[in-house]
Amino acid sequence: METKTVILEVAVPVPLRQTFDFIAPREANHLSARVRVKVPFGNRLLVGMVVAVKSKSEYPIERLKHAIEILDKTPVIEEALWDSLLWLSKYYLAPIGEVLDGSLPSMLRQGKNIEPMHERNWRLSEKGRSSAISDLDRAPLQLAIIKRFMKSPVLKSSDFKKESRSWYSAVSSLVQKGWIEEFEVEPYLATREGTDKKRHKLTLEQTRAVESIGKQINEKEFSCSLIHGVTGSGKTEVYFAAMRSVLDAGKRVLLLVPEIGLTPQLLKRIESTFCESTVVLHSGLNDTERHLAWWHAKQGNAQIVIGTRSAVFTQIPKLGLMIVDEEHDASFKQQDGVRYHARDFAVYRAKQANIPILLGSATPSLESYVNAKSGRYFYVQLTKRVADVPLPKVELIDLNHQSAQDGLSPAMIEAIDHSLNHGKQVMLFLNRRGYAPVHYCSSCKSPAKCHRCDSNLTVHQRAHRLRCHHCGYEGRLIYDCHQCGAKESMLEVGDGTQRVESALATRFPGASVLRIDRDNTSGKGQLAKMLEQAQCGRVDIILGTQLITKGHDFPNVGMVGILEADQGLYSTDYRASESLFQQVVQVAGRSGRREEMGRVYIQTRFPDHPFFDFVSSHDFDGFANTLISERKQAGFPPFGYFALLRAESTHQAKGLQFLRRAKADCGSHELVKIMDAVPALMERRAGRYRSQLLFMSPQRSALNQILGQWLRHIVQNKDAKRLAGSVRWSLDIDPIDLY
Ligand code: ADP
Ligand code: ZN
Repeated sequence: METKTVILEVAVPVPLRQTFDFIAPREANHLSARVRVKVPFGNRLLVGMVVAVKSKSEYPIERLKHAIEILDKTPVIEEALWDSLLWLSKYYLAPIGEVLDGSLPSMLRQGKNIEPMHERNWRLSEKGRSSAISDLDRAPLQLAIIKRFMKSPVLKSSDFKKESRSWYSAVSSLVQKGWIEEFEVEPYLATREGTDKKRHKLTLEQTRAVESIGKQINEKEFSCSLIHGVTGSGKTEVYFAAMRSVLDAGKRVLLLVPEIGLTPQLLKRIESTFCESTVVLHSGLNDTERHLAWWHAKQGNAQIVIGTRSAVFTQIPKLGLMIVDEEHDASFKQQDGVRYHARDFAVYRAKQANIPILLGSATPSLESYVNAKSGRYFYVQLTKRVADVPLPKVELIDLNHQSAQDGLSPAMIEAIDHSLNHGKQVMLFLNRRGYAPVHYCSSCKSPAKCHRCDSNLTVHQRAHRLRCHHCGYEGRLIYDCHQCGAKESMLEVGDGTQRVESALATRFPGASVLRIDRDNTSGKGQLAKMLEQAQCGRVDIILGTQLITKGHDFPNVGMVGILEADQGLYSTDYRASESLFQQVVQVAGRSGRREEMGRVYIQTRFPDHPFFDFVSSHDFDGFANTLISERKQAGFPPFGYFALLRAESTHQAKGLQFLRRAKADCGSHELVKIMDAVPALMERRAGRYRSQLLFMSPQRSALNQILGQWLRHIVQNKDAKRLAGSVRWSLDIDPIDLY
């Protein structure tokens, strides 16, 4: 009897916006959608995902290849998330194979078993500790193993494997003798005894917020609430109260935080508040750890799942609540590959799962703010700091009247001095690392440039290096000009954190200064260690880039100095003033969170700019309203929608040529405005010329439609296809920066 051929429609992790048909393996008996399958693709074997099981293909059967192996017995992605991922792929016009693949931990992408391998762990038992090792004289391998246990209390199978081939039988003998014992290591914070510990008595505002959010949560259906609370207003306590009620109902919680917001401080707070088990997903995990965390979440072993951007793809049975903390943060937007926004996707998932979601921030994104004001989201405000400490007093230092040396004006120095004398910590913010941003020849007036980018090289004085902050190029510090040949003519111009650090050391010799920026926090756990040091108050002056601005609670900071605020004021980027405002408010918010009012000093050359009126009076609404009217008038987000087609090539003209052709191929549409193809603001980066084409529309679906058509065109049209194949290009829906 002839068996009927079964066809698998497979999403393969390649940058192509289509699925592929394969003939199912004959012996396979777990044929269903949403399982992984190994397939031949080009000259490689790839792990794809079955999208559908069919009896027919549009292609002749003889031309189809055979799938090699079905990897799962049951679907790896649950149905609700699967549907949301299909939506994500359509919304962002992203290749379905890359979307599905990217939602899984890398171990699963490589085709590893869905159930993680537990590495086995052993430790000495009571008996092992009290027995005389001379008993093992005739078993040298066992003796060696016991000796190792004496040095390190826990050993894993990987610790033995390199030692000897027969390690396993030696370990087994020791287990049999009762000298050592195997035990499970929990990959997550395990359930703890007892109930919630030290809870604060909520303030009146917090209580009201909890009550109104509680109503939404009790509805047990989709609702989105924006919690707009000034810095230090105790938003976290409000999240916790909401989490408590969901957990008590036997449901689970997903908490998303920005990249830098996931600190030991937050985890400690969660650990000391909840006894439920928790998994943490962040970029510091290795592949095995991530797989394990993902697995425990999927199995429902964890009641609380906390993570950064990609944790939005975690499968959690009986999910009852999602929270996005610091929802305005740019790290929620993926900047390469599938360019999704984790906050927006979280809102979509909540809608599909019909559960409540909370977005929280002291400086909400304009998108969320407008949704809240228009009534689409519930709007919950916390206008006061806990314990009624007023918001910090903001003072401007006019750099037209006094000049700053090494980034510090006399007024700033006086303010630092004053704060230190009163036993308070000082926090200084400068969003530029390195020593000096420009290395400049005093003779021919030309700066040292990166040979691969349109940018100046930054001086890193202590390392005696010149570095490009855009492509990572690094070279020796030069003293003679390479342009004109003048001797000893190079000057370091402008201020970076390292220069300010040395100036502080000279000016305040008795004070301890801690610099925090990318240059000294790249190692695992380094940033966390530094933040902890700063939080304990063991440092007098904390100097840092935006790494120090986000959500950290520094209890003893009495004064904040913003050394430069002008860069965002007259920028060509339409979002620059929004993010400058967010940054300034967030940094300012680190000061005076307890007892005394804090002070904020801002150095600027434009003290009369209306921006500073809003900052000084802590008037978020006023600021947001001016932005809203500007954006409305221009049809910019959130009152219109953007898509950005970017191209890059080693050949200067090619990217622009591709984009011009794309514009022509898109034709004209009533609702879509296509700008001209232009070179990017920094045209050359890492040796490639970059250019872009901006699409604008008052209607999301119109943009989606025109771009969808174009994507099909460049597959079907030979000429267009060839051109697209000759450059690197990417499509960004709802881009957050236009470079
Ligand atoms: P936000 O995230 O709004 O800036 P946090 O939630 O970090 O504020 O709270 C700031 C500080 O105030 C934290 O140290 C927190 O423990 C404390 N806090 C929060 N709520 C209360 C309260 N009701 N009573 C006393 N302290 C509180
Ligand atoms: Zn460079």
